[in-house]
Amino acid sequence: MRILFRCARRRYSSAPLSALQQRVAHRITTPHRIESLLNPDLTPHSWNPSLSPRYSTRPMSALDSATQALAALSITPSATVSHASAASPAAWKEALRQAAPNAPREFELLKVLVFKPKTAKNATPVPVVVVARDGTETSSGPLGKTLNLKELRLASEDLLSEFFSLDKDSLSPLAINAHTFPRIVTVVDASLAGAKDPLAVRALTSSQTVFLSGSDIIAYLRGLETAEVKVHEVDFVALRSETVDGVAAQPKPAERKEKEKKEDAKIEGAVQIAIGVKKEVDFAAWYTNVLVKADMLDYYNVSGCYVLKPWSYSIWEIIQEWFNSKIREMGVENAYFPMFVSQKVLEREKNHIEGFSPEVAWVTRAGQSDLEEPIAIRPTSETAMYPYYAKWIKSHRDLPLKLNQWNSVVRWEFKTPQPFIRTREFLWQEGHTAFLTKAEADKEVLEILDLYRRVFEELLAVPVIPGIKSEKEKFAGGLYTTTVEGFIPTTGRGIQGATSHCLGQNFSKPEMFNIFVEDLNDPSGQGKTYVWQNSWGLSTRTIGVMVMVHGDNQGLVLPPRVASVQVIIVPCGITAKTTEEQRQDITAKCEELVTTLRKVGIRARADLRDGYTPGYKFNDWEQKGVPVRLEIGPQDLAKKQTLGVRRDTGVKTPIPLASVETAVPALLETIQKEMFARAKEVYWSRVKQVTEWEKVVPTLDDKCVVVLPWCEVESCEDDIKDRSGRAAEPQDERAPSAGAKSLAIPFDQSHWDPIIPGKTKCPACGNDAKRWTLFGRSY
Ligand SMILES: [Zn+2]
Repeated sequence: MRILFRCARRRYSSAPLSALQQRVAHRITTPHRIESLLNPDLTPHSWNPSLSPRYSTRPMSALDSATQALAALSITPSATVSHASAASPAAWKEALRQAAPNAPREFELLKVLVFKPKTAKNATPVPVVVVARDGTETSSGPLGKTLNLKELRLASEDLLSEFFSLDKDSLSPLAINAHTFPRIVTVVDASLAGAKDPLAVRALTSSQTVFLSGSDIIAYLRGLETAEVKVHEVDFVALRSETVDGVAAQPKPAERKEKEKKEDAKIEGAVQIAIGVKKEVDFAAWYTNVLVKADMLDYYNVSGCYVLKPWSYSIWEIIQEWFNSKIREMGVENAYFPMFVSQKVLEREKNHIEGFSPEVAWVTRAGQSDLEEPIAIRPTSETAMYPYYAKWIKSHRDLPLKLNQWNSVVRWEFKTPQPFIRTREFLWQEGHTAFLTKAEADKEVLEILDLYRRVFEELLAVPVIPGIKSEKEKFAGGLYTTTVEGFIPTTGRGIQGATSHCLGQNFSKPEMFNIFVEDLNDPSGQGKTYVWQNSWGLSTRTIGVMVMVHGDNQGLVLPPRVASVQVIIVPCGITAKTTEEQRQDITAKCEELVTTLRKVGIRARADLRDGYTPGYKFNDWEQKGVPVRLEIGPQDLAKKQTLGVRRDTGVKTPIPLASVETAVPALLETIQKEMFARAKEVYWSRVKQVTEWEKVVPTLDDKCVVVLPWCEVESCEDDIKDRSGRAAEPQDERAPSAGAKSLAIPFDQSHWDPIIPGKTKCPACGNDAKRWTLFGRSY
């Protein structure tokens, strides 16, 4: 019955099976595991970077410990200053100036940059923490060479959170302590020793600063040295001139060009400005930066878990509303089953629990007392739900039973997490239905799949290819799995969008959940008919895919249908010469426009914040991806118009005020359609028909997916994965599985040359090809 485990796991994760290696069930005792993931030096209140400033009075904080450590070295900060929270060097400087006379008149900012070297897939990264004067140029390329570390990249906020429990605006050399020092590479700017003015050092929050001399900072860090681990003092000026002279490195001209291009994209101190990294250069860092800058997400002190802020949760709500309305029409009802599953029930099917055990989180303790029996947190709900299906379905009149639940599940994965794409807890819906006949089940599988396609295509403007999974990739305990497959052009990887499975009768049979009704065709009345079941799921991964597909170097780009603010109205052109009356007119017009647009169902808002320039507001809403900006200034008023600016293309169009009620909804529809059309064109331009094996890997390396005339033999699929993996370029750890696997056998085969039975051969093994099948590297 290994099958059941495979179903449950396969269904929601594209991860390769590890069940066989994991035969011995290692129970993860959640509290223990979580503790070991956290910095034991920190009190609970200081965990959460976003909360820490509010808890600055906490007893024996991390800052207190740092101050004590400084005192032990006879170092006293020349000043400690509280100020407005500052998220950029410029804002910080300004906040300190305003804190005068508490802050020194002359000072320099200290910057702390964290880089992550290229790390093997399953290894824990050792971040490189650079402590330098704000003016020192700390290019990562030459630094990496000096340290003999490959491909230093600016670390994600995730990593900062994991190592220091801090965000970038709170990060400080004081976060380096006896606990963290051995786990990182500490680099200190040699010129610090010569700094005349005191250095402003973040006091582990964005709203407090301590002032220390450069030599004190070096002394503090040196004080952490052990016999094994030392501070690296680096003369960045010398390093730079070495590189310029060509002494440090002499890459081949082509290589150098590529490198320079990469370094150009990694803007110095990049986490501090705009999106910071270019999408096409460091995709993973770009992605997390967009999520944070767009205010969609915050980091959390439990690795692999994230806070979904209203800006992203509202997208999920729109998907929920739409999907609920559609499944209600199909007679599906929402219900809720508990998140806890008793050990007995979870282990009822041995192989099911065996396969899941590495990822199951257990509650073993309540308060101070151990539970008699550990309770699992659901990794999926089969075992929780199907015993009740057996109880509730007594006669054919109880069929069909169609339930759905909106919930979260927990999979304690150990792979590098990626917000929305791979997280330890995620939100989804799981539908579980039971029918009398296979025909009814078959019909529903495709109806649901089409709803999933529409969520992606009609709401998120993300193209997908519907198809059926191979035998290897299907929900193994089920009869067959259908899927909508998406594509991330920047990485050239496929991504499973959502799946709808026909489970057949595998879960209803007597040795499993024993869900049956009387057989109407059996005259004795003793016969049993086991029900036909489906299950289907769509998760918040949808949001991640949407961000990856549409976002650009200015930030998020939202398709209008899922934008919680579709139109932002910004007053402009107000100068010193503008009269008070004109100002009031402009404000009134902005408010009137909001009312007018809301009346026709547009989610509109006016940005009337004082003290912000129009430029600041433009940038703010662009970063957040609002589809349309309407500008209103004195000249627009005079001409009775507003200037409409599209987020997706930047195109500006004057719109007469008299026609906004029709012109703006039409513009939003145009944007929605064009975003989808562009994404679809890109996707299809990267689906390459390949009939010779030699072209498979180069095509994949060219950031495409291949469509092969395939034999549909499982061992051939293993072989394709193996051969394409070995031949591939080394991959980024955040995008694992370099080998290509089958993504889907598309329902619509008409895009490619007809397969001639007995004549068209599988390019991987030479056997007869059956159907065109998408293969690609994937998430
Ligand atoms: Zn083959």
